[in-house]
Amino acid sequence: MTQPAVLVINAGSSSLKYALLDPLSGDRVAGGGITGIAEQRATITHDATSTCAEESTETSIVDHEQALIEVVRWLTLATDVQPSAVGHRVVHGGKNFSTPVVITEEVVAAISACIPLAPLHNPACLAGIDAAVAAFPDVVQVAVFDTAFHATMPKVAHEYAIDREVAAQFQIRRYGFHGTSHQYVSARAAAFLKIPLTEFNAVSLHLGNGASACAIRSGRSIDTSMGVTPLEGLVMGSRSGDIDASVPTMLIRAGYTVDEVDTLLNRKSGLLGLAGVNDMRELHRRATNSDDAARLAQDLFVYRVRKYVGAYMFALGRVDALMFTAGIGEHDSWVRQSVCVDSTRFGLELDPIANESVHLTGPGEVAVISSPEAPVPIMVVATDEEHAIAEQAWNLLRLR
Ligand code: ADP
Repeated sequence: MTQPAVLVINAGSSSLKYALLDPLSGDRVAGGGITGIAEQRATITHDATSTCAEESTETSIVDHEQALIEVVRWLTLATDVQPSAVGHRVVHGGKNFSTPVVITEEVVAAISACIPLAPLHNPACLAGIDAAVAAFPDVVQVAVFDTAFHATMPKVAHEYAIDREVAAQFQIRRYGFHGTSHQYVSARAAAFLKIPLTEFNAVSLHLGNGASACAIRSGRSIDTSMGVTPLEGLVMGSRSGDIDASVPTMLIRAGYTVDEVDTLLNRKSGLLGLAGVNDMRELHRRATNSDDAARLAQDLFVYRVRKYVGAYMFALGRVDALMFTAGIGEHDSWVRQSVCVDSTRFGLELDPIANESVHLTGPGEVAVISSPEAPVPIMVVATDEEHAIAEQAWNLLRLR
């Protein structure tokens, strides 16, 4: 029997990441990425697990179609494995998509209709889809939406308290993102704890450059910190997270353009805005050297996370686990310890030795970092969004 394989494509405005993998085991056949598409110089990296081959070059790549041609060139060289499906990470599905779907003309139109909600991301996803259809005309293409997992949020969590007509006209409501990661991590944690997913309540913390918290009841998202766009909620690498909505109007009245405000809040805020650097490791180095701005940035990051954990534990009532994932969540013991400090009365008690010795060797791995007698297990779970997308695409095809 031939090995099942799904090609996962994650297209950004100037980048394209890909992975060819077994949707059942998550084992990677090949993967890589291209950054700097349509810029002067693109950086291309490829690897292939079975042959241990690697390639890294710099050249110019004019668009996503050429990027995909480059990916196909490498895959043809590196492996005989053919994809049975292509799974696309699509950032914004609006309120139309609560599950993965096979891409048709109607689906493309619906993703296009969400461009006002994700003006940078959705056009890139569409370019990736076009390019993949051209490169693999006979292979089924599936869209997996970052927003889909949060479609189960009740009205009280997804509505903003603004005029109903305005909200309806502009599709303004909270959608949430990182859904594939929160869903994957909660499934892993529930399986590890041997709790049926349909009975699993948890708080999931995806802490990377982008960061979000998610409240999960009975295996489904009931609230999340990101909103109509990925700007709301936690402090992020370069995004402000929660901010009084009067700030943009104040700045615009003071002479800022709309684009300048957008850039300020999305690209020049968060850790970067507070301390001039968005890498948590560098912040820790600077904080150790008495850099007050770096200290404030890391403390503010942690404080915001703590507020969300507290709010979601209260909203859920009963919590079976707290999970950390993504770059900071998986690797940063200081952040995990600081988030959980002084929370014993809420059932959270970190084991400092377990926290310091987390060593996850592969995607999907789980480490428990709470004291054995603590009521709420605290876990670190290695997220694997590519595997989750491949799995969802594969399951959809099996059901067709
Ligand atoms: P993205 O949202 O871009 O996928 P990642 O999940 O890769 O982001 O997370 C990036 C963040 O993770 C950065 O702030 C980086 O400093 C942090 N990070 C990555 N590795 C480590 C590590 N070993 N220790 C502490 N922080 C880390």
